[in-house]
Amino acid sequence: MEEFTRAACAEPCMSDFCLLCTLGRFEKGRIYTFIGEVVVSMNPYKNLNIYGRDMIEQYKGRELYERPPHLFAIADAAYKAMKRRSKDTCIVISGESGAGKTEASKYIMQYIAAITNPGQRAEVERVKNILLKSNCVLEAFGNAKTNRNDNSSRFGKYMDINFDFKGDPIGGHINNYLLEKVRHPPFHGYSLCWSYFCSLGFASRNQMHSSNPVVPHGIPGGSRTLQQLHKLLVLTVDLKLQGHMCMMSRVIVQQPGERSFHSFYQLLQGGSEQLLRSLHLQKDASAYSYICPGAQLKLTPITPSSHTPQCSINDGAEFKAVADAMKVIGFKQEEIQTVYKIVAAILHLGNLKFCVDGDTPIIENSKVVSVIADLLSTKAELVEKALLFRTVATGRDVIDKQHTEQEATYGRDAFAKAIYERLFCWIVTHINDVIEVKNYDTTVHGKNTVIGVLDIYGFEIFDNNSFEQFCINYCNEKLQQLFIQLVLKQEQEEYQREGIPWKHIDYFNNQVIVDLVEQQHKGIIAILDDACMNVGKVTDEMFLDALNNKLGKHAHFSSRKVTHRPCCPLPSLPHLCATDKTLEFDRDFRIKHYAGDVIYSVTGFIDKNKDTLFQDFKRLMYNSSNPVLKMMWPEGKLSITEVTKRPLTAATLFKNSMIALVDNLTLKEPYYVRCIKPNDKKSPQVFDEERCRHQVEYLGLLENVRVRRAGFAYRQTYEKFLHRYKMISEFTWPNHDLPSDKDAVRKLIECHGFQHDVAYGKTKLFIRTPRTLFTLEELHAK
Ligand code: ATP
Ligand code: MG
Repeated sequence: MEEFTRAACAEPCMSDFCLLCTLGRFEKGRIYTFIGEVVVSMNPYKNLNIYGRDMIEQYKGRELYERPPHLFAIADAAYKAMKRRSKDTCIVISGESGAGKTEASKYIMQYIAAITNPGQRAEVERVKNILLKSNCVLEAFGNAKTNRNDNSSRFGKYMDINFDFKGDPIGGHINNYLLEKVRHPPFHGYSLCWSYFCSLGFASRNQMHSSNPVVPHGIPGGSRTLQQLHKLLVLTVDLKLQGHMCMMSRVIVQQPGERSFHSFYQLLQGGSEQLLRSLHLQKDASAYSYICPGAQLKLTPITPSSHTPQCSINDGAEFKAVADAMKVIGFKQEEIQTVYKIVAAILHLGNLKFCVDGDTPIIENSKVVSVIADLLSTKAELVEKALLFRTVATGRDVIDKQHTEQEATYGRDAFAKAIYERLFCWIVTHINDVIEVKNYDTTVHGKNTVIGVLDIYGFEIFDNNSFEQFCINYCNEKLQQLFIQLVLKQEQEEYQREGIPWKHIDYFNNQVIVDLVEQQHKGIIAILDDACMNVGKVTDEMFLDALNNKLGKHAHFSSRKVTHRPCCPLPSLPHLCATDKTLEFDRDFRIKHYAGDVIYSVTGFIDKNKDTLFQDFKRLMYNSSNPVLKMMWPEGKLSITEVTKRPLTAATLFKNSMIALVDNLTLKEPYYVRCIKPNDKKSPQVFDEERCRHQVEYLGLLENVRVRRAGFAYRQTYEKFLHRYKMISEFTWPNHDLPSDKDAVRKLIECHGFQHDVAYGKTKLFIRTPRTLFTLEELHAK
């Protein structure tokens, strides 16, 4: 690894192919490096003037190594392969949160849009416009400010762009990989309570210690006393002990320093007075308990090259941009209105309060119920019933079972998360409907080819990792396996197949970890599903026991029991820090991932995997008189006695979508963008060597460099090579009389003096350095 530091490069060559000099180039704003067809990208955290029209012209139609490394070079390579060789290609963009994946994917799409449709065909322009505009809409509903990134994509995105025989975009398809619905902040004890208190609108921890009445900001209803806080604290801990923490998702609560999805703040900041009035909303985000902590946040300014400070998020302006984009994409006015109504309904849901009348929970502020019913085009009494009761089938009887206060709160939050998720998926489906390729006749127009662009979450290791990190890291194992298969394994196998002398370069094959997670009947997901399938109360601990029984001896798995003795946040709550009665919040398991060991807290796995939403809400939405809402909830059609099939669990759905994604990518010629985050301060000046080193390591870049260095930049069958270059040698032009194409190629290579830079395989010629290829191209162009 010392080779990554600048010091190790005695005379910094600053070559764009040299990973050793990345730091030096980062300081000069040269943020890209090539390793074969992999481009390494360092987030500059400042606007660089390297994506303009002039740059596009420089890369258009050029060979990969002709110009300095750039995203445009890789985009052009993928485009050329698709156009010249009718190959489906894909660009896989990976890296951790804030490393610059989404920005990279947008530049790639802009590049493709800029170099296509020279004939300005109206239909192609329409498709291009929609593809570009879709980003803004998806980011509004799927991105949020996190502690790592002010515009963090909380979903993975895979976009196929379809091209016609001329190489112009004629359509596309987006797949989204959602996770955040079930996300919760990983807190224990004090922090756990703190996060919950944040969600209730308390401004600082000091307020919790104060003996004075405390005033939660933004909570209608004013001050709470410490007694009330105690009650809430106990309730919170209770909820956690009962495994109800999955209600802590971004839609309903955020970690300190984070916001909910942009769409909420955009509507409040950018919506006209008239619109807000019609939605019964006020402008002040701190009035809504689901999003109020985020309303107070100061957003990090980014430093453009001009050094004029500017805020990275402008909710008001974005609202208008999103509304325009939705119109361009083809959302109808009623549909856009429905989108706003859903966002507003969620905000109102968060302000609904339950209290107990005797044993019976009732809704304290029934006016809010009427507002929600109005926004969701249903009746107030039906909303109230769905919030307070659930329909249960016992044998042939159907009864209404009253919720407890906790269940009602759980149901409300699950409902809020579910309608947001449905909204997001509906938006994606809507965009897909508009850009889907229709009526393409391959017999007339030739093959319809595809470039896929994947912008998906990178490996995550937090202090506390849960179900979401488990899914995200599994996704990264799958992608790493694909990288190994396509870049490391296949390349080396080809040398062996072709009889090229080759010293095998070792790399860790992570298939064993992929199997640990996804293997049928034996893998972690299968064991989790089994636990969820059990009738009766299944706890996270029982799941962990099952893991231990089945995987205890696996080399990449271990588990342990963690005992928490949280320091007591409130001295008058001794039962929370009692020494005789230990609070055992957590047990966890460890997976030795290819990128490092990650410890996962088992708390919430069962709940999140089941991802339960009471059927009553589904029926409520299906019976809405708003056709868009109805369409979003088709399964609400079933009555309680008809619902027999268990829905697939969250982990299995995720696993299936990952397998389908990898199968899809395997069929395509891959190009990689590996994004690196230079520091955790979002600073254009800091190059945190330790952080960069770790990323280089777990992205597999060193193995990549080794294989590449020892290997060959270019290979081609003798026949195709001759077809392209035979005119540059008198021995081969117009035809050769040598015994084989291989002999002819050898003659051609020797007459130009390239013999020291090539190897002759059984069927292919291998060229070591790009420079030889450039010279060949120059000779060809003469
Ligand atoms: P996440 O996984 O959280 O979605 P990400 O990898 O998609 O993160 P981006 O949102 O693309 O990260 O980038 C984070 C921020 O870094 C951007 O908002 C922007 O300020 C800055 N940034 C990234 N790439 C560039 C670039 N090429 N030029 C200038 N700034 C950039
Ligand atoms: Mg992103």
